[in-house]
Amino acid sequence: MSAARILIVEDDRIVARDIQQQLARMGHEVVGTSASGEDAIRLAGRHQPDLVLMDIRLEGEMDGIEAARRIRDTHRIPIVFLTAYANDETVRRASLTEPFGYLLKPFEEPQMRTVIQMALYKHASDVKLRMSERRYATTLASIRDGVILCDADGRVGFMNRAAEAMTGWTAAEAAGLPLATVFVAVDEETHEPLEDFAALALRSGPLAPPERLSRLLPRAGAPECAGVAAGGVVIEERCSAVIDDRGQVAGAILVFSDLTQRRQIAEALRRAEADLAHIGRLTMMGELATAIAHEVNQPLMAIVTNAGTCLQHLSKAQPDLAKTRAVVERIVRDAQRAGDVVRSIHALARRTPADPGWVDMSALIADTLALVRAELRRARIRVETDLIQGPPWVHGDRVQLQQLLLNLVMNAIEAMAAPEIDDRRLRITTDAEAAGPGGGRIRVRVEDSGVGIAEADAETLFRALYTTKPDGLGMGLSISRSIVELHGGRLAAGPAVPRGSVFEFVLPVKPPATSGRE
Ligand code: ADP
Repeated sequence: MSAARILIVEDDRIVARDIQQQLARMGHEVVGTSASGEDAIRLAGRHQPDLVLMDIRLEGEMDGIEAARRIRDTHRIPIVFLTAYANDETVRRASLTEPFGYLLKPFEEPQMRTVIQMALYKHASDVKLRMSERRYATTLASIRDGVILCDADGRVGFMNRAAEAMTGWTAAEAAGLPLATVFVAVDEETHEPLEDFAALALRSGPLAPPERLSRLLPRAGAPECAGVAAGGVVIEERCSAVIDDRGQVAGAILVFSDLTQRRQIAEALRRAEADLAHIGRLTMMGELATAIAHEVNQPLMAIVTNAGTCLQHLSKAQPDLAKTRAVVERIVRDAQRAGDVVRSIHALARRTPADPGWVDMSALIADTLALVRAELRRARIRVETDLIQGPPWVHGDRVQLQQLLLNLVMNAIEAMAAPEIDDRRLRITTDAEAAGPGGGRIRVRVEDSGVGIAEADAETLFRALYTTKPDGLGMGLSISRSIVELHGGRLAAGPAVPRGSVFEFVLPVKPPATSGRE
């Protein structure tokens, strides 16, 4: 047993000394002895003992029962009565002070030991219980949800502050009233009366009914009710039965929250999303303009160059009409390509393959290389290809896929432009991956021996407007990735060995089950 600090209140000094000796033997500390009620109250206040052993008959005006009541009310110190008179009336009066035990005189030491031990133990449990109740009470008082506790008959037992504010009733007024009187909920839209939710919970027992939306009406005749507007507020109600130790329904707890604020937040969020989508559209238009400028630049440059050549031919006294015609045909072809590019970028922005069909990737690579033959020759780049022949074909948009290849090839050419690079090599390969559960795939690798890319930059390159070139737009790779993704594939970049970089994309052979189509 742990040692306790004990106050003895006993008017018989011999008995008091005897008790003191017994307590000392048990290891307790006696903080004082007193023969009168008034003195006992004073000593209890001063020493704050863990326990008071209180004789009922005392010297002076006040008896032990009255002294015990006052000590309990003021200091909440547990009391054990010592008495030789245990008639019914005395026991009844003593019980009102909620004592922690009785010791009938004369008593033996073991008896006293047990009673003190039980009293200290019970007091410690009471303190714990009170603490826990205080915690719950503080929690309930601080939350914004309304909480109403009903007994097994559906009558209000407790309401927290939020429930008081929302119903317009104080807990004291509502105590003992049927819940339906205090808490009037109707259908949110039709205003039809709804069944008392606590009654439903009481009937359902351990199976709590699902939460419901309703409208809480203000207290009749109290329009000034702070929590609820005249038409009521939309609330969400949850209710569960309280089950006691024997599994019986002992009551119900109704918890309800005002949805007004939550709905306002949802509406604000919806508006913010709409604004964001609008900003997104504007940004996309900006990107679209940049993309068109980027992609059309190349055919336009070719048109300007060829038009210059054409003028040169025509300014001669005897123009070579065959040669001039060939140049004009190149101009027409480039102008058509520029138109195709504009159309396909527009389709890309709408996330729709412009003109899906079967595309032979190896043939498309060969065509693309033919388009940039002059640039490759000028830059003294050796081209190597290792391309699969024949099927499988990719299902997609030919112009977009060509744009993709052209971007990768033009980037490779530019990456090898630095004069210190002597071995300029562009290698393009295709290979087919065996058909898996999702169908076959084609892998395309575009490898150069240029300045290369750092592993850490491999993702940054794909960001729109990221460029390291003085006159770059930083759109090529971002568009290329969009094209690959629109075709259900992946595009990634990495360093090549021994130097340079490699851009690789994998496309599914079957048409992707795209959800992006409009
Ligand atoms: P731009 O060519 O206008 O800069 P891109 O989106 O095509 O825009 O490329 C973004 C950046 O990625 C380039 O500025 C360059 O730094 C880097 N990059 C692209 N391709 C290569 C490559 N083959 N080798 C090294 N760096 C590259």
